Amino acid sequence: MRYVFGNWKMNGTLAFAKEYVDKLLELVRPASVQVALFPPFTALGGFSDFVKGTFLKFGAQNMHYEDSGAFTGEISPVMLKEFDVDYVLIGHSERRHIFLENDEMLMKKVEAAHRHDIPVVFCVGETLEERRSGITRDILKRQLILVQDILSTGDIVAYEPVWAIGTGVTPTMEEIGESISWVKELLKAELPVLYGGSVNKGNAADIARVSEVDGVLVGGASLKVEEFAIIIEAFDQNI
Ligand code: PEP
Repeated sequence: MRYVFGNWKMNGTLAFAKEYVDKLLELVRPASVQVALFPPFTALGGFSDFVKGTFLKFGAQNMHYEDSGAFTGEISPVMLKEFDVDYVLIGHSERRHIFLENDEMLMKKVEAAHRHDIPVVFCVGETLEERRSGITRDILKRQLILVQDILSTGDIVAYEPVWAIGTGVTPTMEEIGESISWVKELLKAELPVLYGGSVNKGNAADIARVSEVDGVLVGGASLKVEEFAIIIEAFDQNI
């Protein structure tokens, strides 16, 4: 099984989501790829109806680790459970770097997701400065140290170099393979590891041929339904 996941970030109204899902269901019928979309919180309720009975899975982009309380603007695992999400993204680089979520917080989020039986897509990745300093492996180790024992069957890890996210620049296929192998070495459980960072219709087939890659987490290109369909097909063919 391979995975093509789309993170819409802070994009997509409910109306956009409905049109998108209808179109995607017309365009693809993957045989060996699990496809999931991560719309904003406001579209989750609608999404759960739109995808019911189809091959499409869906998840949230973030959540708080408490079940309820005085955390203005936050969404809890209990609330996500109401929509029956298939996944929650934890530790996306934008959460780490813009919203300053640290390793301890992210561990608490993984534990909370597990308490509520929500599978996690846990994101890791080095910055450009860290790569240039030759400390990519140390950074990935540090990002995984608190969760490597608790991530378990059903969870997924996404390796997303920060410098490749939204930049149009990707590592070489060899570098992607090396980093993903290292992440797999660090994990206690045998989990799928996805690549993320400027995946698009032009590079998806090459990435799909990297044997260590179990799938991709796509940001910008997942907002264009025709392009996302091409990426799904690239992974469905290269098995
Ligand atoms: C992401 O948001 O996880 C991502 C990889 O973004 P992009 O594909 O736009 O680089």
